[in-house]
Amino acid sequence: MKTKSINFSKFSSFKIGPTLDVTLLEDCENLPEKFYLIGSCNNILMGTNPPPLLKLDKKYDYIKIENKALKIGGSTPSGKIASFCKKHNIANFEFISHLPGTLGGLVFMNAGLKEYEIFNNLISISTCSGELNKEDINFRYRYTDIKSPILEATFKLEYGFDTQNVEIFKKMRSNQPSTPSAGSCFKNPEGDYAGRLIEEVGLKGVMRGNMCFSQEHANFLVNNGEGNFEDAVYLIQEAQRRVYEKFNIWLECEIAVLDLRYMGKNSPLLKPHKN
Ligand SMILES: Cc1cc2nc3c(=O)[nH]c(=O)nc-3n(C[C@H](O)[C@H](O)[C@H](O)COP(=O)(O)OP(=O)(O)OC[C@H]3O[C@@H](n4cnc5c(N)ncnc54)[C@H](O)[C@@H]3O)c2cc1C
Repeated sequence: MKTKSINFSKFSSFKIGPTLDVTLLEDCENLPEKFYLIGSCNNILMGTNPPPLLKLDKKYDYIKIENKALKIGGSTPSGKIASFCKKHNIANFEFISHLPGTLGGLVFMNAGLKEYEIFNNLISISTCSGELNKEDINFRYRYTDIKSPILEATFKLEYGFDTQNVEIFKKMRSNQPSTPSAGSCFKNPEGDYAGRLIEEVGLKGVMRGNMCFSQEHANFLVNNGEGNFEDAVYLIQEAQRRVYEKFNIWLECEIAVLDLRYMGKNSPLLKPHKN
């Protein structure tokens, strides 16, 4: 299989990580047994000891209208989807113009802004294990149980691109930092906000090396320049520990931490542990 050398300190939205060889997935035959699939790394903190990585080939970067539905390839960037919808006057994808990622990553994460989520207009997906209708997939806020690489997704096609909506989404974004990050670091616990809890335990703006939870939005872990993995993961664990001690709430990571020390069912990030 083809590989590509990727410098994650440039490629990932966090601007953190080594240069690694990534295998390119051209088709589902010869799928390596153990791998972690990446999209455009807008929701990933890359560690120094990551698992073998896989990425969809460029051939999955396409958008087409077929049988009165919208078919989008798994490696299509969100910006391209937004431009296509604007150009062809297609509705319901306006929020995507402010959501960095590829189609595969957006669907896997059920990414969204407020009540606008990528699953809202989804019909089905095509994966390496076959076709799945929306009804076959368990999904909720920033979660799906999809276990196989998403190659393509089919969406309902409705016309009427809403420019006003784009402005609303732009406004929603205005309180978010432009410093490198991976968006929200933790999922919001039910009935509360991770950012509020981080602020309550005194971690908003506290620097560890060049990393901190942003002054502008406490749930954004940001890299102020040359930040590294160890400092990022220290802050993540410190936030989890302090919030648990004060509120008895365990903050669940929304970002994926790609380092074998922090992955799997024994990951120290998964649940409270005794020192
Ligand atoms: C500044 C900023 C703001 C953000 N704001 C938001 C927001 O408002 N709402 C929101 O929901 N997200 C937000 N995010 C997070 C990010 O936009 C989404 O999580 C997006 O879905 C990531 O897509 P990606 O292609 O970069 O995926 P990656 O970060 O590369 O991967 C994310 C997950 O998707 C899986 N994945 C990737 N491709 C595939 C595929 N083809 N098949 C199966 N699984 C796959 C990966 O294994 C991984 O678990 C923000 C990020 C940034 C940097």
